[in-house]
Amino acid sequence: MFPDSETCLAYLERLRWPMGFICPNCGNAGNPWRPSRGRLLCTSCRRHCTVTSGTILDKTRTPLTTWFEAAWHMTTAKNGLSAKTLERTLGIHYRVAWVMLQRFRIAMVRADRKRLSGTVEVDETLVGGVDHGGKRGRGTSKSIVVIAVEVLDPKGFGRVRMRHVPDASGASLLPFIRAAADPGTVIHTDGWSGYRTLSRAGYIHKRTVLSSAEDPAHVAMPAVHRVASLLKRWILGTHQGSITPEHLQAYLEEFTFRFNRRTSRSRGLVFRRLLEQAVVTLPTTEKSVIHGKHWKPQ
Ligand SMILES: [Zn+2]
Repeated sequence: MFPDSETCLAYLERLRWPMGFICPNCGNAGNPWRPSRGRLLCTSCRRHCTVTSGTILDKTRTPLTTWFEAAWHMTTAKNGLSAKTLERTLGIHYRVAWVMLQRFRIAMVRADRKRLSGTVEVDETLVGGVDHGGKRGRGTSKSIVVIAVEVLDPKGFGRVRMRHVPDASGASLLPFIRAAADPGTVIHTDGWSGYRTLSRAGYIHKRTVLSSAEDPAHVAMPAVHRVASLLKRWILGTHQGSITPEHLQAYLEEFTFRFNRRTSRSRGLVFRRLLEQAVVTLPTTEKSVIHGKHWKPQ
């Protein structure tokens, strides 16, 4: 469908400005002049721009057709793909593949801004920390991920949210829950003290204190434990466990984007959604892509 950069540009233009061009410099609406391929010239402020100006695709040296191919593989592969696989599939450098996937992951953050509601299970899990030497306790750095999953009535899971947190204190857990779930939501947790201020924060707190033998965690909170095991399997499977802590949040965003669209019948729609978000996501510096984005609590 996208044989050349012209078709890609036209497609992105419709996604970015569905109601017609709006100048990113001065906000003027109205058809731009088109002095040359891909360049748009505002009739009001007379400044040039392109459809990718001021977006996550800005100033890329990678052809748009390659970005589109990457987005297609990323959204149609059942479990996504690693940079290594993308490198082989498209015949591009590993670095280029990795940066594209990472930028798309950052664009996925906008995916689902409506907060969770109803009944939500919340728990922390440990991921990563592959021990290369085979010795326990050395070189292992497990990361704590807090996961929230909507539980549907009578059964099934709704949407998820996840965040890499520095520790499991209330100071780390509560801001995540505030960003993830509407006030008034029933939040189901275990007896951990980090959750003790939930009622005061406007949530209906349901605590299940686990008595290890009779009430294993996966029975008491099946949704969050199922999602945690899917996440770990995805990290070990698709990504061979090779995710460093500074990039973990970006992968969590990709997992969330995928999980929340798991029932989407059309892969084409998911592809479209990803590019739609790519052209409304602000640019990220190369440095923050490479060294890990600073994730501000939303
Ligand atoms: Zn303008």
